Amino acid sequence: MDFIMTTYSKDQIFNLLSEIPDPEIPVINIIDLGILRDVKFENNLCTVVITPTYTGCPAMKVIEDDIRCKLKEIGIENIKVELVFSPAWTTDWISEEAKEKLRAYGIAPPDHSTVDKKVLLGKARELKCPLCGSIHTEMISQFGSTACKALYRCLDCKEPFDYFKCL
Ligand SMILES: [Zn+2]
Repeated sequence: MDFIMTTYSKDQIFNLLSEIPDPEIPVINIIDLGILRDVKFENNLCTVVITPTYTGCPAMKVIEDDIRCKLKEIGIENIKVELVFSPAWTTDWISEEAKEKLRAYGIAPPDHSTVDKKVLLGKARELKCPLCGSIHTEMISQFGSTACKALYRCLDCKEPFDYFKCL
């Protein structure tokens, strides 16, 4: 019986894991992003349930390693990271606070998940510039600095910006 494990509550683990930033957007953490779904203690095993933003996102491996690392720091050795794909993650799970942080960071936060599908289909849409708020923007590339982002440009302030398009 591992007594260390039982001394932590689910809230404490959530708190600890909130220190893990999204590898691609360091200003928001994995709880802001809405991908941390649950933490369970069963017998001697700590199970962390996460829902990937989209299956091909290489950042998920980094997040998984970070979770294991954090838990080991507090003495939890027996860890299972469970990936749950249903219900699928949507941009609606990103907290309002996190959307503000994204805006401040210069990334246009997703406003609705259906909109992202249009981005994936390569159709430019009206997207507000996070720098000046102008809606005169155009998509330059379907892929921004990472596969999770599309690159846009503001026609008014001429600044390029990333649009977070994870599905
Ligand atoms: Zn602008």
